[in-house]
Amino acid sequence: MIKLKIEEKTLQKALDKWGAVAQIRMAIEECSEFINAQMKFYRKRATIDEIREEVADVLIVMLQMRTLLGPELVDNIIQEKMERLKMLLEADDA
Ligand SMILES: [Mg+2]
Repeated sequence: MIKLKIEEKTLQKALDKWGAVAQIRMAIEECSEFINAQMKFYRKRATIDEIREEVADVLIVMLQMRTLLGPELVDNIIQEKMERLKMLLEADDA
């Protein structure tokens, strides 16, 4: 299980303060920063800590996207996809 202390109200507050459009743009920006850091890492121009930083940024904005799009609906999809992944891995083990 993933243990993180994430308050839904903090995610909602960010969406309320800056608006959905700004946060969607931020999500796009953070994804591109992750991609950029990962590409630099392959060329030895970024550290693993920089990648970790970008992973954290992406997860935080994705949690805001989850809040924006309906947490239960997104969680259901995640749950289904994780089940599918688990079954696939178990099938490979057999
Ligand atoms: Mg970033």
